[in-house]
Amino acid sequence: MKSLLAFRGAIQNRVRPVDPVAATNLMDELEEVERGIKRNDPSAVDQFKALEAKIAKAIAQAGPGPGPGGPGQMPEVETCPICGKKVQGRYCENGHDQWGVVSKGSHGTSGDSIA
Ligand SMILES: [Zn+2]
Repeated sequence: MKSLLAFRGAIQNRVRPVDPVAATNLMDELEEVERGIKRNDPSAVDQFKALEAKIAKAIAQAGPGPGPGGPGQMPEVETCPICGKKVQGRYCENGHDQWGVVSKGSHGTSGDSIA
């Protein structure tokens, strides 16, 4: 049953960050279904389907994945390579000109010696 694993991942990754209690409950139910399947309990299939719907609902309530402002989501902030401060537009908080000083080292510097 591959989908049980997928459910586990979905609960951990999608539901738990938003609703840890619901995630714990779903994990309990998932384990119960797993046990039922292992002992060839025919009702496990129905439980599985019910759980599938519950998980889908919980994920829908959790929202469309990590987005702006979502939990665990770092805002995309550029930092100054010189002082490490936040860059706002062209200048960092200390006034370093990002266009003038930034050498990201990815494009060929001809003869520059970067100490
Ligand atoms: Zn700076």
